[in-house]
This record gives sequence, C-alpha cells and structure tokens, in this order.
Amino acid sequence: MGIFFRETSVISNTFELPTSGSPVSLPPASEQAERSWKDAVDETRRRSPASFEQWFSSVQFDGLEQGVLSLVARDEWVRDWVVAHFLPDLLANLERHLGAEANGGLRVRWRVQPQLDKPVCQGRSVVKTRPSEAPPASSSAPRRSERPSTIVYSRASLAAALNAKHTFPNFVVGPSNALAYAAAFASAGGGGPRYNPLFIAGGTGLGKTHLMHAIAHKVLEERPSARVVYVSAERFTNDFIEALQHHRMDEFRTRYRAECDLLLVDDIQFLAGREQTQEEFFHTFNALRDADHPIVVTSDKYPQQLQRMPERLVSRFTSGLVADIQVPQLETRVAIVKKKAQIEGIDLSDAVAELLAQNVQSNVRELEGALIRLAAKSSLTGRHIDEEFAESELAVVSPRRPDMVSVEDIQRAVCSHFRLSNSELLSKDRHKSVAFARQVAMYLCRQRLKCSFPELGRAFGNRDHTTVMSAVRRVEALRQRDPQVNAHLEAIEQRLASSED
Ligand code: ADP
Ligand code: MG
Repeated sequence: MGIFFRETSVISNTFELPTSGSPVSLPPASEQAERSWKDAVDETRRRSPASFEQWFSSVQFDGLEQGVLSLVARDEWVRDWVVAHFLPDLLANLERHLGAEANGGLRVRWRVQPQLDKPVCQGRSVVKTRPSEAPPASSSAPRRSERPSTIVYSRASLAAALNAKHTFPNFVVGPSNALAYAAAFASAGGGGPRYNPLFIAGGTGLGKTHLMHAIAHKVLEERPSARVVYVSAERFTNDFIEALQHHRMDEFRTRYRAECDLLLVDDIQFLAGREQTQEEFFHTFNALRDADHPIVVTSDKYPQQLQRMPERLVSRFTSGLVADIQVPQLETRVAIVKKKAQIEGIDLSDAVAELLAQNVQSNVRELEGALIRLAAKSSLTGRHIDEEFAESELAVVSPRRPDMVSVEDIQRAVCSHFRLSNSELLSKDRHKSVAFARQVAMYLCRQRLKCSFPELGRAFGNRDHTTVMSAVRRVEALRQRDPQVNAHLEAIEQRLASSED
C-alpha cells in the first residue's frame, strides 16, 4: 500500500525541495507575494478543480520570503502527493507571476502538522480520517455507513456526465478523424470490425470526448440495460483512492469489472506516474477483455509516447486498434461550423462559416467557441452575422495578438514549460531535449511574431538563419503528425495567453 497509508508521526518535519535553481532574494512576504501566490493557486486549480480542492484542503500556505515558499501539509502522504502531482505546475505559475523576482528559482520548505488553521481550500479533505485513526480492517463495516459511496454505479450519474449533443450524427467526419469515427461506431455495436481495446489518440479539442459520449449514447439507446461506465482517468484515480481509504475495494471492483459491460476511460494520460492506479487499471483491463467487454480509451498521446506508463499497459493499449484524430482540414472545419450552427439554431452564411474556419485552425473547441461568441454578440446587439461583423469580432476576441508578446516572452514561456534556464535555451547545447525546446521557441516566434529568419538567428544566440529555418519546418511538420508535440505547443500558447491577460 506504500505511499497511501504511510504513518505520520513527525510533527515538525522540515525539508526543502530545490526547484530550478538556487534561492534568490525576494522582498519579505509582501502583498505582492501573497497576490502572486493566490493567482498561481487559481491557475493551478483550474486544471483539475475537484482534485485540487481535495488535496489542498490538507495544505496550508505559510509564507513566501527570500525565495522560499513555505507550505504545511497535514501529513507526509499529502505532502508527497502534492509534490508529485501539483508542485511543478504551481511553481511554474508562481514563478511566472513573481517575474524577475523569482528568476533564480524558488525553494519549497515543507512542514508536517496534523491540524491546519487555514487550509488553502475548505473542501473535503483526503485525510479527514487519518490512517492512524482508522479502525482496523476487520472492523471496516461500521465505517461504510459513514458516508455514501460515490463509487457505485448509477445511471443518473452517467446521464449527467454525458453531453446530449455529443452524438454520432452530430459528429462531422473528414479525413482527419474518419478512422476514429468508424472504430468508435463499431465499438458501439454499429457494425464493422470491433477492436478491443480501441485507443483514440489526438490533440486537445479535436473530438475525442465527443466520440466517447457518442458511443455511450448509442449503446444506451439500443440496449438500455447495458452497464456503461464512462469516466475520466482522473475520476478513476479518485475513485480508486477513495475505495482504498474507505475499504471499498470490493465496490470499486464490482463497478469497474463485474458490473461493467462497456468501459470508456477518457484522458488516460492522467495515469502517468500513478503506479498503484496503473496496477489497478491493468487488472481492470484484463478482467474486461477476458470477458470480451469493450474498452475504449482516449489520450492526448500515442500509447508509445505516454510517459511514466508501464510497458505492459502500453502493450495492452496497442493490442487492439490505435486510431488517431488529427487537426481537421479547412473543408471539414467549414462543415463542423455549419453543423454546430444548425444544432444551435444560428443563421450563418457559407461565407461566414468559411471565414471562421479559416481563422480558427488548430482546435475545434476554439472554433465552436468563436461561433458561439459571435451568436451571443449578435443576439445582444441585434446585428446580423455577416462577414464584416464576423471579421471585426475575430479581431477583437482573437486571443493571439502578435503585438502583445515579444521574443523574450516566448523564450521565457518555453523555458518555464520545459524547465530550462534562459542561458541553456540560448546555449550551443545540442542535447535532444534542449534542442527540441529551442526549436519550439523558434517556431513560436516565427509563427506569432513573423520575425525574419536572420533576426531570429540573432535572438537565439547568433545562430545561422538556415538553422532557424530547418527548426521551424521541423516543428511545423511534427505538429501535424505528433499529438505530443501539439500538446506541448498548446500548453506554451496557454502560458503566453494567460501572461497577456
Ligand atoms: P477533446 O476531448 O479531443 O479535447 P472534445 O471531444 O471535447 O475534444 O471536442 C471539443 C468540441 O469540439 C466539442 O464541442 C465537440 O463537439 C467539437 N468537435 C470536435 N470534433 C468535432 C467533429 N468532427 N464534429 C463535430 N464537432 C466536433
Ligand atoms: Mg476530452
């Protein structure tokens, strides 16, 4: 059980975890430091609010002085989990908010203390019942009645988790997603060869979740008694932790194995590095496949690119069909805009549909967002959606205004994403990971700032313009075919977008 039930007897345990560099001098715990901390917390929370609330109800902020962030954890288990799963993001956000003040990197000092006066979140704590206070396993029965299980199967919770509009008829099929669509349709019993498992890989906002919901809708429509389990990998993980904590593993296994006719797990990349959950998922997977119950998994990366995922799981993922979804071409994007407009009852001309599809290229979610904003603005102002209106709105809301970021901003964002220093980025280091980060930075500068190649060469440690050209081409090509590269780019673009706010 390792990390989950580690006993905590040390009350005032202090240890430091270095981050990217040595400590630097910051002004004493100022209002500015507190504000930066709060902003960084908000940003980190946004990534997975439920999980954040749960863990940070057992963590307290204890100040930020002289480059040292002080935190208190209710016990070591919480501390280790937060260090492994939240701290890298939290620190990156915090360092960004502190700007120049944190240039040398922050250190973290932890204390362990069972009672917290002011936890970061007031939500449900993961350690309200501390392991040392838990009754022995043999007397687990009374504890079962303490709180209702959220693990048990419930048709209502499934319905609530599914978006009614995410159906097969509402999904536009084009060359970029045809295989994934056909395979998903077959998994739902729609005909054609059925692969088990089906692994759907693709970048953010390209329709993976839509296909998962479509499978669930179709199966439930045709076989209402089918026991369909649709969860994100994060939810699977949280259920597993809860089951372990509250001695409900039998319920957990009933739900995910014995009483599951179809298992849909979204965003499996979340299991990276979560060894115990991976182990449990491995057994769940085997049990279902042995019973010939379909399993569909989505991911933002191909199985072989999943980091910190054991080989035996990767090989299970590739044992059926791996179907990818790529960024849709212009024609498909136009068709998607028209389909969305039809579903939402928005009156849209072909010319405006084309204009939107041309302007929002990399992500269907953003494309949909642009259409919805336009429709909202039109209904508020009473103005008809014509090309001129659409163009002016696109210019206003476009989150990427090239004049607002500089080469330095992009270099900074890339460095904090890949956890490199600026001098490493600009150095002659040809180590694979540093070179890749450098190429990504060059690509983003070229794409967003339209700098000339010689200009960029100078900005990146006086490199030859041909080096910059081939870097930009390489990343451009990789972005098209490698969802992992796409995910890196999107994460950096998000960083840039939030620093522009
Ligand atoms: P992902 O899970 O890959 O991040 P989603 O499935 O959440 O992406 O899709 C984002 C949005 O884009 C959803 O509203 C979805 O309906 C829409 N979408 C994506 N691809 C298509 C498509 N081919 N046809 C219609 N809508 C799509
Ligand atoms: Mg999704």
